Amino acid sequence: MSLRIDLGAIVQNWRQLAAMAPNARPAAVVKADAYGLGAEPVVRALYEAGARDFCVALAREGRALRPVLPQDARINILSGHMPSEDLTGLVPVLNSAEQFFRDRAIRQGQPFAIQLDSGMNRLGMEAGEWAALRDEALAGDPDFIMSHLACADEPDHPANAAQLAAFREMTEGCDVPRSLAATGGILLGPQYHFDMIRPGIGIYGGLPFAEAQPVVTLSLDVIQTRHVQAGEFCGYGGTWVADGPRRIATVSAGYADGVLRALSSSGFSLYAGATACPVVGRVSMDLMTVDVSDLPEVPATLDLICREQPIDRLADYAGTIGYEILTSLGNRYPRHYV
Ligand SMILES: *Cc1c(COP(=O)(O)O)cnc(C)c1O
Repeated sequence: MSLRIDLGAIVQNWRQLAAMAPNARPAAVVKADAYGLGAEPVVRALYEAGARDFCVALAREGRALRPVLPQDARINILSGHMPSEDLTGLVPVLNSAEQFFRDRAIRQGQPFAIQLDSGMNRLGMEAGEWAALRDEALAGDPDFIMSHLACADEPDHPANAAQLAAFREMTEGCDVPRSLAATGGILLGPQYHFDMIRPGIGIYGGLPFAEAQPVVTLSLDVIQTRHVQAGEFCGYGGTWVADGPRRIATVSAGYADGVLRALSSSGFSLYAGATACPVVGRVSMDLMTVDVSDLPEVPATLDLICREQPIDRLADYAGTIGYEILTSLGNRYPRHYV
C-alpha cells in the first residue's frame, strides 16, 4: 500500500504554468495540506524551484509552514484576519472592511493584502466597501490586491469577462501588484494574468490543466482472494451478485481513505498494470472487493490512481472533481515522495 507523490512532476507543473504567464510572479496554493499531498515536502520542493509566494486558507496552516520556509518566502492567508489569530510572519489577505480595520489596528506596519469581490460573492470586499477604504488601504502599501474567478474552468462562461472588467474597474489607478488567476484563469490567457498567478490544482496534476504531468500513484494491498459462484454476492447490502464463477480480491482501502462510497457500483476499476479489474459491490470503510478473474496471477497490489485512471477520471465516476479526490485521501497511506 503506498501513496507515491512525484515532487519532480509538481515542480514541472508549477514551472509550466509559470511559463504561461512570464510577466507574473508565480505563487503556489498549498492550502489543505497541499491538496492532501503534504504541504511540507511540497513547499520545500517549490521553494527550491524558486517559488517565494505561497497561499493557504487558514492562519494555522500558515503557522505550521512558517518554520519550514525561509524568511524571504511570503505565506498569504486567504481567510484574512480572523479574531485572535496569531499572524506573526504571515500575510493576511483582508476580505472585508471589518477585517481591514481589525488588522490595521493591531498590525500597523505589518504586511497585508486585499481581496476584492469581482462577482463570485464568496469572499472579498464589495465595490462600495472598497471605495470607502481604498485610499487608506493604498496608503498602507498592500503587498497585492486580488480577486477570484468563479467559472474559469469554463472558458466561454460570460462571468469570466464580467469579473475581469469588474476587477479592472475596482483596481484602476492602484499602483499595487494585482492577482486574479488560479489554474483556470491562467489558461484563459494573458489578460487574466496581471502581476501574480495563484495556481493550485494544476500543480498537483488536475484539470483544467490538461497538459499536467501526473503527480499521484496510489497502490493498494490485496489482503485476500476467494472464488465465488454464480448467485453469490459481495459486500454490504449484497448489491453485486456474481453471474458466473469469479475470482474476487479484497483490497485494503475504503471510504476512510478517500475511496468515496459514492464510487460504489459506478464502474470504476483497480488496475494491474494496464488491465482494469472492476470494483464490485459497495466500498466499505476500510475495504473493497475487486473482480480479478481476468488476471492470470493476482499481484500483491492493485492501483487506484495511475496513468490508466487519473484523479479526474476517478472523480467523474464519483460525480465530483479531482480536487475532492485529492483532499479526501486521508492519512492512513504511507507516503513516498520521489
Ligand atoms: C484554491 C484557490 C486558488 C487555487 O485554485 P486552483 O483552481 O486549485 O488553481 C487560488 N486562489 C484562491 C483564492 C483559492 O481559494
